[in-house]
Amino acid sequence: MHEYQSKEVLAKAGVPVPRGEVAVDPETARRIAESLGGKCVVKAQVLMGGRGKAGGVKLFDNADDAAAFTKELIGKRLVSIQNPTGMVVEKVLVAEQIDIAEEYYVAVLLDRDVQKHVVMLSAKGGMDIEEVARTEPEAIVRLHIDPAYGLCDYEIREAIAKAKIPAHARNQMVAMIKKLVTAYHDSDADMVEINPCAWTTDGRLLAADAKVGIDENAMFRHQDYASVSQASAEDPIEAEAAKRGIAYVKLDGDIGIIGNGAGLVMCSLDEVADAGGKAANFLDVGGGAKADRVKQCVELILMDPRVKGLLINIFGGITRCDEVAKGILQAFDELPINFPVVARIEGTASEEGRKLLEGSRLVPATTMKEAAKKIVELAYA
Ligand code: GDP
Ligand code: MN
Repeated sequence: MHEYQSKEVLAKAGVPVPRGEVAVDPETARRIAESLGGKCVVKAQVLMGGRGKAGGVKLFDNADDAAAFTKELIGKRLVSIQNPTGMVVEKVLVAEQIDIAEEYYVAVLLDRDVQKHVVMLSAKGGMDIEEVARTEPEAIVRLHIDPAYGLCDYEIREAIAKAKIPAHARNQMVAMIKKLVTAYHDSDADMVEINPCAWTTDGRLLAADAKVGIDENAMFRHQDYASVSQASAEDPIEAEAAKRGIAYVKLDGDIGIIGNGAGLVMCSLDEVADAGGKAANFLDVGGGAKADRVKQCVELILMDPRVKGLLINIFGGITRCDEVAKGILQAFDELPINFPVVARIEGTASEEGRKLLEGSRLVPATTMKEAAKKIVELAYA
């Protein structure tokens, strides 16, 4: 999620966040800056870290300059150490400028090794936390959350003292951490991070930056966020796939791949690579796919103009091969497919499936290896 969206999630749980609003054009940015009294910070809303160093965050003392900077930022590609290819800015956050005296780091994440949620805390926030973790690991304190009892106040205070958060900020930090944990649980997040968690010259603790990641498996409970993540997906095909609930990842080759099950799709990618081809995508139809879903997957592949051939690799378990075959036939009937399609279809109802496909444009193969070889030959012929 973008910073402004993350801040909404945190604010809902009562985490103090600087006032601010999103703008997609300089005029709106000017109006927001004026409503904040002119003094403001303009921040590029791109899904990458290190925006500050990349020139995507600037402080202004009047609305005109904030508008001018917004004009400069919108449409510009920001590149950072974390993201060398960079991302194009479509929105900016115009927020209240706060006078930061100290910058801390606080986050809640899932510690998979320990199988618990963990609070991470450091008095050395603001800069690159990975760098702190590398050079000064003792400066980052970890507090694991007991799944049965949650956090007790004394544990939080102990962690805050251990992290050397100055005494003046400690009471507000206790409250901040409790609210952050609430935000984390309520939004089914697997990560909430505040960096910097700012201590202001007038004695307030605020989330000056925020990053929330929602556990994908909980997305069905958060349709409001689902639209957020779809809209912010960089690639239009990935966005469309997300809307249809299909697992799709764009790659940089030209052979489209459809398989069922992530493992089988990955094997298919390897076989295509071994045969001398390059996969254009990763697409998992999922378990028990019906004909219509198969057709929808082919439709996604067709959205990518680079594709020169399509490999379909299905091992039917719950998925019935005759359903897959019907989907392929529908796709041939209704969609403008002008590249070769090779399929290896094995397992439940594969005989019925193969019969249905007889006489169609589909090139059948009996093994995955053979299928990969054939599609590479045909696509690059
Ligand atoms: P990031 O570089 O992508 O993590 O973006 P941040 O939102 O963390 O902003 C980078 C830096 O800009 C922060 O570490 C702060 O030092 C500074 N910054 C951001 N907002 C404000 C603000 O309201 N006032 C001041 N003084 N500095 C700010
Ligand atoms: Mn930051």
